[in-house]
Amino acid sequence: MIGSCHCGDVRFELSESPKFLVDCNCSICRRLGALWAHVPIESVQIVASKDATLKYIQGSKTLATHSCATCGCTTHWENLQPDGNIMAVNFRMCDAGTIENYQIRKFDGAETWQFID
Ligand SMILES: [Zn+2]
Repeated sequence: MIGSCHCGDVRFELSESPKFLVDCNCSICRRLGALWAHVPIESVQIVASKDATLKYIQGSKTLATHSCATCGCTTHWENLQPDGNIMAVNFRMCDAGTIENYQIRKFDGAETWQFID
């Protein structure tokens, strides 16, 4: 699976398909409107130059959200925890029609930290 920001400066490739996509209602995700595929870090290749993304690190500093510095699209989040082995890519960056092939699960990241579907 391949995704790209609008201008193409930031791309990702997945070597394995996610089982479902996550629609999270936390303060950052609800603003971004992202649909996250959570996958093992080793199954993701981010194709971008070092300065191609803007990093946003919020509150608990457990992850950094990356957005293209040119077109602004949010492409992925990076796990900042030393033992973290999962990251996520935003399937909104995939070709039109892609997300329709996946189950979308609602996650209550705002309060209970549980799936609510
Ligand atoms: Zn871009």
